[in-house]
Amino acid sequence: MTVELKQYFDIIIVGGGMVGASLAILLAQANKQWSIALIESQVLSSDDDAHYQPNFDARSTALSRGSIDIFQQLGLWQTLQEHTTDISRVHISDKGHLGGALIEADKPVGAVIENAWLGSVLLQQLPCYFNLTVIAPAQVESLQPQKDGYQLSVKRGDEALLLTTSLCLICDGAESRLRHAVGIEADRVDYQQQAIIANVELSQAHQGVAYERFTNSGPMALLPLGESHNARHAALVWTLPTEQAAQVIRLADADFLAQLQQLFGHRLGRLVKVGQRHSYPLQLIIAREQVRTHLALMGNAAHFLHPVAGQGFNLALRDCAILVDELLMAQNQPLGQLPMLQRYQQRQNFDQKATIGFSHAISQIFTNSSLPFAALRALGFIGLECVPPAKQALAEQTMGTFSGNARLQP
Ligand SMILES: Cc1cc2nc3c(=O)[nH]c(=O)nc-3n(C[C@H](O)[C@H](O)[C@H](O)COP(=O)(O)OP(=O)(O)OC[C@H]3O[C@@H](n4cnc5c(N)ncnc54)[C@H](O)[C@@H]3O)c2cc1C
Repeated sequence: MTVELKQYFDIIIVGGGMVGASLAILLAQANKQWSIALIESQVLSSDDDAHYQPNFDARSTALSRGSIDIFQQLGLWQTLQEHTTDISRVHISDKGHLGGALIEADKPVGAVIENAWLGSVLLQQLPCYFNLTVIAPAQVESLQPQKDGYQLSVKRGDEALLLTTSLCLICDGAESRLRHAVGIEADRVDYQQQAIIANVELSQAHQGVAYERFTNSGPMALLPLGESHNARHAALVWTLPTEQAAQVIRLADADFLAQLQQLFGHRLGRLVKVGQRHSYPLQLIIAREQVRTHLALMGNAAHFLHPVAGQGFNLALRDCAILVDELLMAQNQPLGQLPMLQRYQQRQNFDQKATIGFSHAISQIFTNSSLPFAALRALGFIGLECVPPAKQALAEQTMGTFSGNARLQP
């Protein structure tokens, strides 16, 4: 193996998932003077291969208003919108208990996009920036701190690359190998749950309503999919204890649908067909440090959340936008200085704590079947209806914004 390339980039992003790719675009647009590299171990194809294939096995993401605003500022929203479904209302209910909440806003509460489409649009955007170099497929094997930044050893096929940078942004996912490599510990809560993902065909139109339903075995969400509110498809996220999930995922389609229908009810009519199912183990993982001189952990590498409230990507995107804002404000100083990275962290500290705390609390309150918790969640929903500020707070969390443009249905 020979060292073919030794090169410096102002900023290197490791990991071209949803967060790394979005961050690359934010940075490339923010300052054309920055030389940026995005390194991803998988093939990142922006040609026809990357286009969506209409199968039933894709995960979907509920984008908050905050995320939509960021994509709007990036000039990507118009393209993304061709593949999104507006969420006009969120309906929250609790199986076996009275009370339910309906959250409505002046403009759509958010939008749902299949990850395959979001990825496709992001990947097609990457080659548009002359200051952004995509290195993929290539694996970052190690990184070493240096006086003015980091040196990364990268394996690309048979080549070994040595890259240096003033700012290394690690976006390599929840089990971040590089987080471990630089000696940053992470706190974990194993929820002992799996999320089963599938696309479901409905007998009636979803009308743009996103349903969150809490059951004793765990929360489930059915998010509206398709070109219009008359579409009859929904993205299912069904949280179950690990052992139960292993059984449910193997059920025949008819049995799977019957069990789902029994828990979800008939709010969306009959559940007609289910696509391929996938499962994801659920944990809360929080890095004990997110920034060091010349280094920041972003996305799942920094915080991996329970998906019950659909907040992981939305929070990560807000982190990215604030980091880029701080970088711009400090652009006359050398890149990657600790005070600048600390300012970013201070600015996002409240948002991160509130969002992580909210997702964790809601997963606990609504999963626990003991009497006090069952009473609390019934009270919680009734309380939400009776106490507008509580409902407002939930709406604002759902929308990922504290600006307060939600109008709540009386
Ligand atoms: C079931 C479920 C439903 C969800 N629904 C929502 C939702 O509705 N709304 C929401 O906001 N969020 C949601 N989320 C959260 C969201 O999916 C995550 O926040 C998001 O995927 C994080 O992406 P990431 O880019 O940080 O990590 P990843 O997607 O894990 O990407 C990491 C990338 O790094 C690459 N990589 C790893 N190591 C290296 C290396 N050494 N060198 C080079 N490349 C490397 C990997 O190949 C990968 O492409 C959900 C999560 C789950 C599990």
